[in-house]
Amino acid sequence: MIRVGINGYGTIGRRVANAVQLQRDMKVVGIVKTRPDYVARVASSRFSIFVPDESYLKAFDDAGIKVKGVLSDLIRMSDVVVDATPEGQGKKNTPMYRTAGVKAVFQGGEEAGVADVSFNAYSCFDSAVGKSSARVVSCNTTGLARSLHALHSEFGVEHVDGTIIRRATDPNDHKKGPINALEPSLKIPSHHAPDLRTVLPVDIDTVAIKAPTTLMHIHVLNVTLKKEVQQSDVISAFSSRRRIMLVDGKDGVSSTAQVMDLARELGRDRSDMYELVIWRDAVRVSGRRVSYIQAVHQESDVVPENVDAIRALMGSMERDASIDATDSSLNIGG
Ligand code: NAD
Repeated sequence: MIRVGINGYGTIGRRVANAVQLQRDMKVVGIVKTRPDYVARVASSRFSIFVPDESYLKAFDDAGIKVKGVLSDLIRMSDVVVDATPEGQGKKNTPMYRTAGVKAVFQGGEEAGVADVSFNAYSCFDSAVGKSSARVVSCNTTGLARSLHALHSEFGVEHVDGTIIRRATDPNDHKKGPINALEPSLKIPSHHAPDLRTVLPVDIDTVAIKAPTTLMHIHVLNVTLKKEVQQSDVISAFSSRRRIMLVDGKDGVSSTAQVMDLARELGRDRSDMYELVIWRDAVRVSGRRVSYIQAVHQESDVVPENVDAIRALMGSMERDASIDATDSSLNIGG
């Protein structure tokens, strides 16, 4: 049984904790919370609560939330720590993990150099096997890696031009924006292009625009392949991956609102959509040119990747077996 510590229990950490608990070969030994809020109170009935250091103990004590120990205790009790702290904090935590000799999974908000390798289960599971640390690439990069790996491994990708319309913030946040503007990233290519190349070696340019929504990112992708294909070839390459879900506008899925509603109908934990969603109706093919539109549920597409990254670091399962086990536990593709 792989013992997993979750450091940082926000949007990503709490979902990864839930997914880890669903695996037969791993268990959560504890989670680290900084604040004794409603999330900590609910979590305390499911998980042992730890805090970063002794200075946090009094606040939890005052709030009546039982604390089992501090981060260094959790690290000692874990085989792998999933670090889901805010961007930049993961890097600050690396000396603790290294000194203790515990393996660590970082998130996409960290620079690539934080870990031995960057990780996506489809495109580079094997590069993480037996390593000390891996960084699961961001939600957007995970979405790009899923569909582009499907195309690259079947037909070869020559070049990609991508436009990324990013959700402004997550649904539980009331502070970030914009709330009445579209905010283009003035850096071209946006950081997504170099980030993708950490897990999939394809030639790609991206531009990104932040939009006032909390429901998913949308990518518009124009791909030049190395050979001519038919639309049916592309659809079948996408359909062969459980972590890609094809949806149809004619079924009423015409925006991210319906994609999230579909996740609710599927009865997913926290109404999550772990799969990358691609509109089948909008897949256009002309010779070597393929265009399509995909939607990324930023809060959850990296969750199955974190579970696979744990197994890869531990060297406890091969790629396909791990992906199968993770998908079956989360009802992905079911
Ligand atoms: P979040 O703000 O929702 O959660 C972070 C949690 O860590 C919060 O509960 C915060 O209180 C806690 N925290 C703060 N300082 C801490 C510390 N020193 N030790 C332990 N916990 C601490 O953030 P998030 O959205 O879950 O992002 C976490 C990481 O995942 C980031 O690298 C981010 O870029 C990445 N990521 C986020 C998304 C997304 O859409 N939210 C998607 C993919 C990847």
